[in-house]
Amino acid sequence: APLSAADLDSLAWDKVNGLLPAVVQDDVSGLVLMLGYVSRESLAATIDSGFVTFYSRSKERLWMKGETSGNRLRLVELRADCDDDAVLILADPEGPTCHTGAASCFAHQPAGAAWLGVLSRIIADRADASEAESYTARLLAKGVEKIAQKIGEEGVEVSLAAVTRDNAGIAEEAADLLYHLSVLLQAKGMRWDDVTQILRERHKI
Ligand code: AMP
Ligand code: ZN
Ligand code: ZN
Ligand code: ZN
Repeated sequence: APLSAADLDSLAWDKVNGLLPAVVQDDVSGLVLMLGYVSRESLAATIDSGFVTFYSRSKERLWMKGETSGNRLRLVELRADCDDDAVLILADPEGPTCHTGAASCFAHQPAGAAWLGVLSRIIADRADASEAESYTARLLAKGVEKIAQKIGEEGVEVSLAAVTRDNAGIAEEAADLLYHLSVLLQAKGMRWDDVTQILRERHKI
């Protein structure tokens, strides 16, 4: 279950330094953003402020990520691991998390369908991009009817490819369809999670 302020005393704080490692994960994309250390006080500050706050071992003080860069991590949910000696922080990043400007300190990208979450972030950024430079910006500006038409076309292309083309061809058309579906979700203010949640719940039944 998600952690609240009342649960902090029950965590297995390190007996020597009073800290626990905390993995921060992007709530939308599933990308692992960074690893930091938290103290009881820094987790209380995280819950209070709604922004991820670590205990910095080099600064020897509380450190709200983004305090100077502005790239804060908005708290979505806190979870402890199976034996309460590590913390998972689901967050919504306000900018690149790594000081190098990369989204993740680990410079990795999720594989499989999880990459659609990263694509959603990119498409959301394009909503404010110039229409001259971005196909996505132009498509969003044209509106839901145009996006819906593209989804119809790409859907037909996937079904044609399924019977006429090799696997590489099917993958190309499936990618076009998933991209246009992602743009529709952006236009509607939806997330991939709104869709995958339904699949998860069906599995329970
Ligand atoms: P910030 O918290 O983003 O304002 O950055 C303040 C300082 O913290 C930077 O100058 C870096 O030294 C350090 N820093 C920022 N982001 C990270 C990170 N993801 N991992 C480790 N150190 C960081
Ligand atoms: Zn553990
Ligand atoms: Zn980094
Ligand atoms: Zn196509």
